[in-house]
Amino acid sequence: MNSLQGRLDRCAINTATLGHREPLHLTIDRIARAGFGGIAPWRHEVEAADVARISKQIRSLDLEVSGYCRSTYFPASTAEERVANIRSNTRALADAAELGARCFVMVVGGLPAGSRDLSAAREMVVDGIAALMPEAKKLGVRLAIEPLHPMYAAERSVINTVGHALDVCRQLDPDNGVLGVAVDVYHCWWDPQLAESVASAGKDARIAAYHVSDWLIPTTDMLLDRGMMGDGVIDLKETRRLIESAGYMGMTEVEIFSRDRWWKAPPDEVLRCCAERLQRVC
Ligand code: ZN
Repeated sequence: MNSLQGRLDRCAINTATLGHREPLHLTIDRIARAGFGGIAPWRHEVEAADVARISKQIRSLDLEVSGYCRSTYFPASTAEERVANIRSNTRALADAAELGARCFVMVVGGLPAGSRDLSAAREMVVDGIAALMPEAKKLGVRLAIEPLHPMYAAERSVINTVGHALDVCRQLDPDNGVLGVAVDVYHCWWDPQLAESVASAGKDARIAAYHVSDWLIPTTDMLLDRGMMGDGVIDLKETRRLIESAGYMGMTEVEIFSRDRWWKAPPDEVLRCCAERLQRVC
């Protein structure tokens, strides 16, 4: 496994890590200045700015866009809403292409309001991804399905393991033209099938992104209490070894949602800590 020591050029910062506290152009400069090689911006930031200008700034600083976050959820109570969700995602793909993003990150959505039908929600997800694929292919944007921890199944994602995401990829895209998997340690560190699923995804060259943070004990908020790498219980070196042994050569992207800790720290301090931990514990 390659060391990340002195290799921040192989590391990216997901802008959520800084808490979306300032306009994107400032965040981009900050991340480049701190020496990172990549950035993963969010749609609400890009859509609030001028995508052409943002894209130009990112390119001029030689940053790679490790991913564009993220899809509108696919499942919904009515057919009209489902169509609108697909349209929203189609529009985002154009921005992903303009940004030169390595992938469009797909967080697929949970149960529609009032529903208990998990199978139906999963079918809506498969249908939604299928509907998005032609445009993604045309634009040359890879769609990266990100399985989320099962605690999010009701509200955010009915795809919950790397193996499950991989099954959807193989079902919809047997020739591996456009679908891949985003592996986020926070969501999949607990999975007894992780090594096997990652190896299998790697054999197909389906690993499109790798996200790091840490799982804190105790975790005080399901969504907004992720830890800095090294502060929790995830074996990050072992996980990166699995990912890279499977052939993944892309960025290691830091993605930390931390309302009460890191989103209160000065952004440059957060980036300094990310840099130190990436090189020492990841
Ligand atoms: Zn992630």
